[in-house]
Amino acid sequence: MSTTAPSESAPLTVAAVVEILRQAAPPELAESWDSNQLICGDPADVVHTVLLAVDPLPAVIDEAISTGVEMVITHHPLFLRGTDHVSATTAKGRSVHRLIRAGIALANAHTTWDCAAGGNADALAAAVGLTSTTVLSPSSADPSLGIGRVGHLPQPMTLRALAERVATALPDSAPGLLVGGDPEAEVSFVAVSGGSGDSLLDAARQARADVFLTADLRHHPATDHLADGRPYLLCGTHWATEWLGLDALAARLEAGAAQRGRTLTTRVSTVVTDPWTLRLSTGS
Ligand SMILES: [Zn+2]
Repeated sequence: MSTTAPSESAPLTVAAVVEILRQAAPPELAESWDSNQLICGDPADVVHTVLLAVDPLPAVIDEAISTGVEMVITHHPLFLRGTDHVSATTAKGRSVHRLIRAGIALANAHTTWDCAAGGNADALAAAVGLTSTTVLSPSSADPSLGIGRVGHLPQPMTLRALAERVATALPDSAPGLLVGGDPEAEVSFVAVSGGSGDSLLDAARQARADVFLTADLRHHPATDHLADGRPYLLCGTHWATEWLGLDALAARLEAGAAQRGRTLTTRVSTVVTDPWTLRLSTGS
């Protein structure tokens, strides 16, 4: 046998990893404004190890370079609006330069992974322990999938007890978890959607959820919403509520590689990419 013959442990190419990613997070599930694709890198390059992270921020690029991976897959895109240069005069431009110099490809799966079967929304619902889940905001491409989930807790509990359960399930970051509503009220039917959830407040109410777990809720949408009653609100951080889906994506990539008779190693970044580094209680 030639030493150059394909073997069971032959690595994948960047193109093959992108294809596996598209099977896990189908492009047709993308929101119209979104970007889910290979952002930089040569499709023909070889990939042994992929680093998964929520954000393609400099700290994640540092981790990719220091750990020697050949590819990074993030949830968020690096560029979403029009860009007319990638010179190394901005953090994003420097990230592109550093990735190319290090021979590291970057791809992302954003709303495609939010919506996907077994994706971000399902991961968050599972972390809360929801059962018999349905979709909160169905995708026009496939109404059986979409953004957010609604489901039942194993048994009714107080909002406080649910908040404690959610706080334990989420990874740690400085802001923690905020609770809106009567902590002693009994709740059993819960809507979840990782990341910014302002736009889904009405959908959570129409679903008759007792509680809506999301992130990035602003003052006026949240206070106006709570003035009309349930669902009560649990507000985690954007990073924490979306980080939970990375393990599932890593497992899907490894399984996709195995189906092709290939080996792919994954690692999930634990770098916290929320903007906030410290929380102080206010008042005297
Ligand atoms: Zn997000």
